[in-house]
Amino acid sequence: MSKPSSDRLAARAPATSRYDTVRLSHGSGGKLTLELIEELFVATFSSAPLEELNDAAVLANPGGRIALATDSHTVKPTFFPGGDIGRLAVAGTVNDLAVMGATPAYMSVAFLLEEGYDMAELERVVRSMKHTADEAGVAIVAGDTKVLGRGHGDGIFINTTGVGFIPDEVNLGVGVVRPGDKVLVNGTLGDHGIAVMSRREGLDLSVELESDVAPLNGLIAAVRRAAPNVRFMRDLTRGGLAAVANEVVRRQAFGLRVFDARVPMNELVEQYSEMLGIDPMLAANEGKVMVIVAPDEAEAALTAMRAHQYGRRAAIIGDIVRRPEGVALVETAYGSRRVLEMPIEEQLPRIC
Ligand code: MG
Repeated sequence: MSKPSSDRLAARAPATSRYDTVRLSHGSGGKLTLELIEELFVATFSSAPLEELNDAAVLANPGGRIALATDSHTVKPTFFPGGDIGRLAVAGTVNDLAVMGATPAYMSVAFLLEEGYDMAELERVVRSMKHTADEAGVAIVAGDTKVLGRGHGDGIFINTTGVGFIPDEVNLGVGVVRPGDKVLVNGTLGDHGIAVMSRREGLDLSVELESDVAPLNGLIAAVRRAAPNVRFMRDLTRGGLAAVANEVVRRQAFGLRVFDARVPMNELVEQYSEMLGIDPMLAANEGKVMVIVAPDEAEAALTAMRAHQYGRRAAIIGDIVRRPEGVALVETAYGSRRVLEMPIEEQLPRIC
């Protein structure tokens, strides 16, 4: 198989652009499918296993336990301030692997495209995926394309499956969390959810808020080098801080306390979430992680986060407490407390 380099792709118009939109035949397994795969997906993602065009990617195994994560993505709008569905799909899967202590290595990408979907837009999405995968150091090694008839899809759906490797000695999880442990986040909360919602709701905004969508494996690796006794990590996606805080304390003999005043929040998020009637602590993030760490390593973890481009506004926002058991609490500067409720229903449909 001749190998079209991404430079060559950029230098000439891809064959797929003979068509302005996606056709049913692009997914039928025939000539147009092969063209789309070779000229767009293989050329852009450009990994050795993909170029083989075999039925399965055959991959090197560096050792350790295997972490596997899969996620499907649909977002309206497809392009939003600070990102797009492609970056979201890659970063989301990378982050799911990284919070488990895995080093993300490989990814498969499946597209479900609706007949009539704009080809130029698809190319932008694909380039964005490649850019994000490169940033994360992940190879896109397998893929699939299906085209749904007009009216049977919603433009574009993307499924990503990621594989990473966890060294044998890594032991992370709620089971090793102890009272006294510190709770950190790597920056402002609610940016993604509020950015997408404000764009979708057509709020008349003087300043546009940007999503935080980003692959966090680099930041997480830096934190784990600085703080070997990280106990637990979770990316703060749907349901935001509230969902993860509740997940941590569920059925456990400890609680989690968040100090309201220490939670980093973009001023615009505070403003816009009020306009939208959404609690930013429940809003989705796509570039934020909660890290629970042994108390004597909290400062080192914080310093490592702040030294990273995706952790400039990191903060120690709370701690693990003996009582009340099984509850996540928010404490105000005045000492009053409220329960940080689990989101009851999807506040922000279809934003990730
Ligand atoms: Mg996750």
